Formats: sequence, structure tokens, C-alpha cells
Amino acid sequence: MDGKALGLKIREEVKIKAAAIKAKGITPCLAVVLVGEDPASLSYVTSKEKALEEAGMESRDIRLPESTSENELLSIIKELNNDNKVHGILVQSPVPKHINEENVIEAVAPEKDVDCFHPVSVGNMILEKGGFLPCTPHGVLKLLREYNIQVAGAHVVIVGRSNIVGKPLANLLIRKEYNATVTLCHTGTKDLIKHTLQADILIAAAGRPAFIKPDMIKNGAIVIDVGINRVEDASAKKGYRVCGDVDPCAADRASFFTPVPGGVGPMTIAMLLQNVIESAQRSLSK
Ligand code: NDP
Repeated sequence: MDGKALGLKIREEVKIKAAAIKAKGITPCLAVVLVGEDPASLSYVTSKEKALEEAGMESRDIRLPESTSENELLSIIKELNNDNKVHGILVQSPVPKHINEENVIEAVAPEKDVDCFHPVSVGNMILEKGGFLPCTPHGVLKLLREYNIQVAGAHVVIVGRSNIVGKPLANLLIRKEYNATVTLCHTGTKDLIKHTLQADILIAAAGRPAFIKPDMIKNGAIVIDVGINRVEDASAKKGYRVCGDVDPCAADRASFFTPVPGGVGPMTIAMLLQNVIESAQRSLSK
């Protein structure tokens, strides 16, 4: 499943929508806040900012030193909440250890919470009350739809129950519109392989490089690899390579699979842009 191609297609659609909004006098704008200099985080925000620019949207880049206090960060978020020119706010995770991440998530106004991390956004998503959909889970659903994968009635096994991937994805998949039956696995799951072998659709989001081995996959299953892991590799130019949670040899057993890189990652960015557009469109109708 080519997430890079589908992501680019969605970004082209976003570009057209952005131009239409701009013609009405508003430039869709995402504030991207990065605290500290974590190299992986820096590379994520740079790709997001580049994608925004390419789509003709504004990226308000806010780089803060590692020493930024929680109060300083919260007051910057407050300013962004009150700024009519900003339609979305993204604070790149993780924040430095001296800052309470939950306080940061809860400081972002739900109407600008394009990541869908705020408890109000999550509640609205679970109760199907509208609002933004979380980017990575939404990207996975788009991929399944693009490749006409039969989700209704399928047994989906997700490995990983994080707030940003596993939990929201399970909640979206059990919506009537998808009608999947979901098993959510985690470190407390006994006999993981017994569950993964039952999956018609296996979604790996454990953050463990090449952890899902070929013998854990039912023949012909659909395999979605959400994992993005940096693994040291002296032969690579940057000293590391990026790999997923699924052993690449497992692709042979799958009927469809998402590569890493080039699978779910680019979809996450595309869905983020789409959420910013949605927010800007809402501000037009206010
Ligand atoms: P977290 O570390 O927050 O969560 C990992 C989850 O996997 C936890 O629920 C954990 O269980 C479970 N898990 C870990 N090891 C095992 C194991 N051995 N057996 C069963 N379950 C296990 O990770 P995230 O959800 O934030 O990210 C997961 C991966 O997805 C990472 O590689 C991350 O980089 C990537 N990612 C990719 C994105 C994309 O755009 N493609 C976006 C977001 C994340 P427990 O709860 O019991 O600890």
C-alpha cells in the first residue's frame, strides 16, 4: 500500500482547497511548536512545515529552547488560542521532562486541536460528535479505503494501545461505518501470537523495530505497520536507518502491507493538513 502516493494525492486536494480559502481572504495556518532539539522531533516538524508550505498554507514555526518553562509554554499556547489567524496548533511530542505533557495537551483549544489529543476532542471522536479525527488513525483508515480492503466484519488486531494510535484507531474501527471487530493488544496480552494469527487486518503500533515476525501473521492478512523506529546503522549516511514494527520478511505472507518508510507516515502528514483546512473552513463560516 503506497502511502506516499496517496498522501501526495490528498496533499494536492488540500492545495486546491487552501487556494479556495485564500481567495476568500484567509490563509490556513498551523502553528508548529517545538521545545528543545530532539533530532527526530526536529525532522518531524520540518517535514510538516515543508508540507504546509507546499500546500500554500502558512506554517507559524515556533522554536523554543529546552529550558522553556511549562508556564512559558502554556502562555504561548494561550496566545495562539486567541490568535484568529491561527487555525491549528501542534506541539511536537515529546516535550522536555520538566514539562507536564498532559497540561500542554489540555491547554490547546479543542477547536484548534488538529492532532485530536485534547480530552474534549477525544470524547467527541469516541461519541461521534464531529470535530477533528486523529491524524495517524485517520491516515490508516484512508489507506484501507483506497485499497478497497473489506473492513466490515473483519477481525482487526492492533498491537499497541497508546492514546495517539491504538486507542483512537480501535474506536474508529468499531464505528458502524467501518464495522470491524477489534482486538487491542499490549504488554499485558498473554500469548500475543495467538491473537495476531487471527487477524484479517493486523496493525502494528508497538514502537519495537521488526517485532512482528512472519510466523505471527496469517497467510494473506493485511498488514499495516505504523511503527517508525530509528535503528543504529553505521553503514547508513546518518548513522541510523528507519524501520517499522514489522519484520520486512513478513511482507511475503501479507496480501497487502504498508512499507516503512512510505506507508502510514506520509498519510499522517496529509491528514494533518486536511484538519488544518477543515479548521480554516470552519473559521470562514463563523
Ligand atoms: P507508545 O510507546 O506510546 O505505545 C506503544 C504501545 O505498544 C503500548 O501500548 C505498549 O503496551 C505496546 N507494546 C510495546 N511493546 C509491546 C510488546 N512487546 N507486546 C505487546 N504490546 C507492546 O507508542 P506510540 O503509539 O506513540 O507509537 C508506536 C509506534 O508508532 C512508534 O514506532 C512510533 O514512532 C510510531 N508512530 C508512527 C506514526 C506515523 O505517522 N506513522 C505516528 C505515531 C507513532 P503497554 O501499553 O502495555 O505499554
